[in-house]
Amino acid sequence: MTTILWFRRDLRLSDHAALTAACAAGPVVAVFIRDATVDQLGAAPAWRLGLALEHLAQALEARGQRLILRSGRAEQVLAELVAEVDAKRIYWTRCYDPQSRERDTEIKSRFRAKGIDVRSFGGTVLFEPTTVETKTGGPYKVFSPYWKTVKTRDVDAPLPEPGKIPPPETWPESANLADWALGARMRRGGDVVRAYLHPGETAAQNRLAEFAGDSIALYHQRRDLPAVDGTSGLSEYLTYGEVSPHQCWHAGLRAREEHSQGAEAFLRELAWRDFATHLMVYWPDMLDNNWRAGWDNFAWREDKSLPEVVAWQQARTGVPLVDAGLREMYVTGRMHNRVRMVVASYLTKHMLMHWRIGQRWFGECLTDWDAASNAMGWQWVAGSGPDAAPYFRVFNPEVSGQEIRSQRCLCPPLDCRGAGQSARHCAGLF
Ligand SMILES: Cc1cc2nc3c(=O)[nH]c(=O)nc-3n(C[C@H](O)[C@H](O)[C@H](O)COP(=O)(O)OP(=O)(O)OC[C@H]3O[C@@H](n4cnc5c(N)ncnc54)[C@H](O)[C@@H]3O)c2cc1C
Repeated sequence: MTTILWFRRDLRLSDHAALTAACAAGPVVAVFIRDATVDQLGAAPAWRLGLALEHLAQALEARGQRLILRSGRAEQVLAELVAEVDAKRIYWTRCYDPQSRERDTEIKSRFRAKGIDVRSFGGTVLFEPTTVETKTGGPYKVFSPYWKTVKTRDVDAPLPEPGKIPPPETWPESANLADWALGARMRRGGDVVRAYLHPGETAAQNRLAEFAGDSIALYHQRRDLPAVDGTSGLSEYLTYGEVSPHQCWHAGLRAREEHSQGAEAFLRELAWRDFATHLMVYWPDMLDNNWRAGWDNFAWREDKSLPEVVAWQQARTGVPLVDAGLREMYVTGRMHNRVRMVVASYLTKHMLMHWRIGQRWFGECLTDWDAASNAMGWQWVAGSGPDAAPYFRVFNPEVSGQEIRSQRCLCPPLDCRGAGQSARHCAGLF
């Protein structure tokens, strides 16, 4: 009575409802499938995924388990595996992007028709997107009322890691992760970015514990200060599921007892991530097109070969803060939220380039790339999204740069790892 546990964006062993259920049912064959959704990833997300898989495989091996790697159409791969290991169940954690949803719905109905118990579990968001509705029914379009609705909801306590992950009697064959060469397109140098990454579930949990026990106290004051390492740095762990949103939420709740303002602000940001997924579920088209159709005739240019676009991508605009942000992304794989807004505003409102150009470039370069948050972020700045900045709100990169240059760490009593030690400064970026 083997269960196939299909890992996707949930590359952890703790707080994993699908894994916990699979372990309770009998032997488990853990698989990751390299299908079209993986092959379409940009260079940095694909490379970062490879690192997450490496860590997950090691964690499973340390527990007498294996991560089976297969390539191809997910339905075909699963059919082969079901036959090979005589599986009676397929479990996974839900993904919400339109491509995965379509694939998963199809797989569910095909395998259920063959008598296989197929079940999907929550674990990539806090609140199931379709369970959050306005008073009149339907989705939220504005974050504040969304937040008001979800902030008092109960969020399940995180599950512990299963004590044992029962192995199958025989192991199915697996591809070799190195042969997949998921980092092959990191032409600009994975070695440079690697110095700033600490992939894997253990590092993710450590980062969460460190942040929730310390920096969260002043998060509300420091989250907008790019020169200070004052945010959680959890986004890429959340993207690959090395930490669960429930673990982050409960750490935030515990911290709120002592550090109410900082923790409240952190919980609110976590809800922004869910809000992005909520929007994507109801308006999947927002990944490619203006959420507000009124922007469809706006005279944005969309030729990515224009020299000014290449200069923007290569951090050669001549505007110090814009170039610093883009260099930060090149070197560290991430960019501070405030700088993302400045960089995006510069592309869409100074250069009048379509937000899709920037959205796709971020999709190539960010190690925390998330389809929903990225599309929402770009459309928010451009003005074409729900609850967006008005069209006349232009971030002034010079004024922002001057403000940021003058920022100092606000918390001498804490070990804030502030200006002078953050990646931005070490790399001489700004
Ligand atoms: C143009 C643009 C593109 C973006 N692209 C992405 C992306 O591809 N992936 C991504 O995870 N975030 C994206 N964001 C949102 C935000 O910049 C990052 O989530 C944040 O900088 C991550 O740093 P952190 O983990 O230290 O965040 P913290 O400030 O510590 O926040 C905690 C968590 O809350 C969530 N969060 C915070 N701010 C936002 C936000 N504005 N929208 C959605 N979730 C948020 C993240 O999961 C984050 O890890 C984008 C924002 C903009 C303006």
